[in-house]
Amino acid sequence: MLLLAMMLVSVLLGPVLNLLIDRLPRRQALFQRPECSICGVARSTSSLLPVAGWLRSHGRCQSCGASLPRRSLIIELGLPLVGTALWYRGAGGTHVLLQLLFVAYFMAIVAIDLEHRLVLNRMTAAGLLAAIGIAAVGFGPSVPEAIAGAVIGFLFLWIPSLLLPGMGMGDVKLAAVIGALVGSSYVLTALTLGVLVGGVVAAFLLLSRRIGRRGSMAYAPSLVVGVALVLLGVVR
Ligand SMILES: [Zn+2]
Repeated sequence: MLLLAMMLVSVLLGPVLNLLIDRLPRRQALFQRPECSICGVARSTSSLLPVAGWLRSHGRCQSCGASLPRRSLIIELGLPLVGTALWYRGAGGTHVLLQLLFVAYFMAIVAIDLEHRLVLNRMTAAGLLAAIGIAAVGFGPSVPEAIAGAVIGFLFLWIPSLLLPGMGMGDVKLAAVIGALVGSSYVLTALTLGVLVGGVVAAFLLLSRRIGRRGSMAYAPSLVVGVALVLLGVVR
């Protein structure tokens, strides 16, 4: 695969991903022109261009002046950077495209959890199917390992989800997706790392009084850090 093709896919993926992050949690139609979430006016074609659209409109709705979520720009800039890094790391093999799609998937999971405190069933169901599909075509673990990983992941986070404030069933289902992706051999490493990162984040939020003792935090970002460390081979 050419680097240029990879860049093009990453750049075009940004606005699509932002649309999904805007609409999936609100149960809005996916195939409609993007609109301002405050005034509802459809956004102009030029403002939809990745990065350039943001710069041109100074990150604001051109109709009512409401600021667009900063996350849009982070994703539009982040995906091409990640895409380039993956391309170099994978020496341009076609599997880097699959990796990019999974990075995009986890970006959406993290953004939706941070913005809505939700891990959507539709997202986890799609992720589980995709992870098992990838195993079936010979990437990642074998299919039995992927399925066993999903079951272990689900069970591993199920008890903590009943005890820890902020961890819900969405996180437990995300653990199943992570298990299917890394397989039964690595699922416990990935999730233990995720829970540890979550503990550090929770301690920081409590000590800095950003959340109260009974407050909740988004848990998916920490779990995603755990799976990323394992998939990147930082921790095995
Ligand atoms: Zn507006």
